Amino acid sequence: MALKGDNVVVSNMKLERIFSMKGGKGDTSYANNSQAQARHARSMLHLLEETLDGVQLNSPEVPFVVVDLGCSSGNNTIYVVNVIIKHMTKRYEALGQEPPEFSAFFSDLPSNDFNTLFQLLPPLANYGGGSMEECLAADNHRSYFVAGVPGSFYQRLFPAKSIDVFHSAFSLHWLSQVPESVLDKRSTAYNKGRVFIHGASESTANAYKKQFQTDLAVFLRSRSQEMKRGGSMFLVCLGRTSVDPTDHGGAGLLFGTHFQDAWDDLVQEGLISAEKRDNFNIPVYAPSLQDFKEVVEADGSFVVNKLQVFKGGSPLVVNQPDDAAEVGRALANSCRSVSGVLVDAHIGDKLSEELFSRVERRGTSHAKVLLEQLQFFHIVASLSLA
Ligand code: SAH
Repeated sequence: MALKGDNVVVSNMKLERIFSMKGGKGDTSYANNSQAQARHARSMLHLLEETLDGVQLNSPEVPFVVVDLGCSSGNNTIYVVNVIIKHMTKRYEALGQEPPEFSAFFSDLPSNDFNTLFQLLPPLANYGGGSMEECLAADNHRSYFVAGVPGSFYQRLFPAKSIDVFHSAFSLHWLSQVPESVLDKRSTAYNKGRVFIHGASESTANAYKKQFQTDLAVFLRSRSQEMKRGGSMFLVCLGRTSVDPTDHGGAGLLFGTHFQDAWDDLVQEGLISAEKRDNFNIPVYAPSLQDFKEVVEADGSFVVNKLQVFKGGSPLVVNQPDDAAEVGRALANSCRSVSGVLVDAHIGDKLSEELFSRVERRGTSHAKVLLEQLQFFHIVASLSLA
């Protein structure tokens, strides 16, 4: 087995076996670098609630099942599951009906830090002992049963017709793999000199787009089998406003400028070869509305309740916007919390440290522009079975 950092090409390994956000609770962990995602999710709560209002209520004897796909490790997933269950409970109560029992599945790839997530979960309220009102009043308790589900969402994860609500935030832009042609020297799609789609050739961009659409099609097909009739799905992923995929907007600025330049620094300083850099690509694709819509329509299993581009804002959370060093650090940490695991696997921990210190330095010297221009747009989709 290759040692960490000795792997010649990360994509040759199964991405789904190694990929995760940075676990734990340290400075560069996802749990500590996902406040921006929390903020963006909160600004879309009205859209989530609209979706929940369309979900069919079951008999109280049947458990109501909620799934968060790409839950990662941190408070965001717990927050949103809580919102969903509280909202559904209120809907039952408004009709004078006893709410059912709720169960929530937290799902992510097997390398996800489920332990940190499980430790963050509030204890189960005294189900059966107290009334549902008491459970809900006790905010530091949860009123639902939980389980973790390891596995890629680009496959079946649940039994047929078993899920009422699927939720997924900031995850579906992660591809199942870097498209093979993008790393193949003989292909016109070879992304020479680059580590991301932003600014790449048309041929590279097409390969990325095809991978995204193939993956999304598998995702939709799987969910359409798992969803109960009357259920709904609320999806949010990184998106872009440009028609041209080589202009990747906010995601382009995150992975296509300072991150790219930092890789080039390592090559110029002789720390890695140009080929080593070219063998690394970020498996992310931020679709346009059209890219997304084409797949939903071709699949045909779902009706679209809502499909729109939503301005999320900056992925950087800084206390002192005038402090350039803090902005640089926020950029490096944010970048590292999501791509660090892949970078470590490709060049090892030491060089990864070197890389992100260069991202930080470059971010610090471009702090003002970053704060102004680094903006994320999201695709928001609310879908029900056709
Ligand atoms: N939903 C959380 C976390 C988003 S981070 C939040 O709102 O903060 C994106 C997550 O998607 C990561 O944890 C990553 O491991 C997961 N992910 C990426 N590709 C995946 C796949 N194919 N299957 C399941 N999870 C995946």
